[in-house]
Amino acid sequence: LGGTPEQEAYMRDIIDQFTVDTNYLNQIRDHFMAEMDKGLEKEGATLAMIPSFVEGRLTGKEEGHFLALDLGGTNLRVVLVTLEGQGKYKTVSSKSRVSEELKTGPMRNLCDYIAECVDTFLTEQGLEDQEVELNLGYTFSFPVLQSRINRGVLTTWTKGFACTGAVGKDPVLLLQDALLRKHVPVKVSALVNDTVGTLLSNAYNKPSTLAGLILGTGANGAYIEKFDKITKWKGSKASADEMIINMEFGAFDNERKILPLTRFDNKLDRESINPHAQLYEKMVSGMYLGEITRNVLTDMIDRELLLKRDENTSLAWSKEISRHWSFETAFMSNIEADNSTDYAHTKEILDTNLNLHDVTTTEARFIKKICELVGKRAARLAATSIAAIVKHCGIDADGCDIGIDGSLYEFYPSFEARMYEALTEMMPELTNIRKTIRLGLARDGSGVGAALTACVAARME
Ligand code: ADP
Repeated sequence: LGGTPEQEAYMRDIIDQFTVDTNYLNQIRDHFMAEMDKGLEKEGATLAMIPSFVEGRLTGKEEGHFLALDLGGTNLRVVLVTLEGQGKYKTVSSKSRVSEELKTGPMRNLCDYIAECVDTFLTEQGLEDQEVELNLGYTFSFPVLQSRINRGVLTTWTKGFACTGAVGKDPVLLLQDALLRKHVPVKVSALVNDTVGTLLSNAYNKPSTLAGLILGTGANGAYIEKFDKITKWKGSKASADEMIINMEFGAFDNERKILPLTRFDNKLDRESINPHAQLYEKMVSGMYLGEITRNVLTDMIDRELLLKRDENTSLAWSKEISRHWSFETAFMSNIEADNSTDYAHTKEILDTNLNLHDVTTTEARFIKKICELVGKRAARLAATSIAAIVKHCGIDADGCDIGIDGSLYEFYPSFEARMYEALTEMMPELTNIRKTIRLGLARDGSGVGAALTACVAARME
């Protein structure tokens, strides 16, 4: 890479630590499959493998008006989805802020607020006097123990929400009560997990969809399982022979049996708000990749292998990059996209975002290489989950579609290409991987996907 012998030796070691070869990928995939089996067999396994209560498959012919409601971030979103059949649909939506007061006040107030937003939205759309109730799919992105397609219990709040009178209660019933109090003609028919929504939104126009993945802030996936294989199932027999399983695979290998954890991953885990949890997610998803990269960079700086400047300036130099989470995953995307010979764009990103002026071309080359190592490892590890699902389920000659949502997959250059490369290595028998395991961007799982879940729920009644 054109550095000093010390720098070159360091980089060789780093390359070695972050490289996951074909053989290793296969081992991880096999462990993934074994963990899937455990999760299907009993409660409390590392891969939770949660039955979604969404039974059967979509035909693409589903039609009608459905509502979707998305609560879980800063905004509350209400969407009217018109399914037109033939895999086509239209959406109209409205967004409103959820104030801090509502997030931490009584749950009744929050539900009244949501009901009011739905009511206002229906009036705007001229649907307030509907004779028949509209079915609504509720994406409630908090930990819920589900017992039916539209029944569940909130186990704990996350992400800054802390309403009183909600933990241990059913968010569907609480919302339904508020809608009834206001005479809003809406039935909350489904409680939706975002990965399940992603799968369904992809499946509506791609009937061969086998799985849905989220590769954004976090990482998770859902796939269609044969009902007979869910051996832990205690409920009554389902109406169809298949059910979607929410894998909660961010927690894969929390017991550290197989993942190629480096000291940089361990540092990130130790300093995170959830040490020892979500280990796979921490190597794969958008929230963490920048921080892993930063950990390598600061290690090099400490060893005086990178950004070494004279005594007086070196402190000021490293101030910004010494701050936790200061290196965003989006910077990695931009740096990786830099194809200039003098790394002008990389230098500019480091200058404007991290206050690192006058980075040399050799230094920029090192930094880009580190981004590439972390990004490539993430994509290859992410591919092991798909390989595990595909091998677990088995596919025929027509292959399958995999819907993926999230900024990491959508915007990180080469992320998808690297996933395909890893899939090819794991499945050399498939001659055209892109035609057999078709990855694609699945949009709006919490909108269209939630509406489709409400549609399936109405069908199941
Ligand atoms: P969410 O998963 O929260 O619904 P997103 O899919 O937008 O939202 O994912 C946000 C995550 O994606 C953040 O962790 C962020 O670091 C990362 N991210 C945002 N933009 C980019 C980008 N251009 N390249 C890579 N990662 C990105």
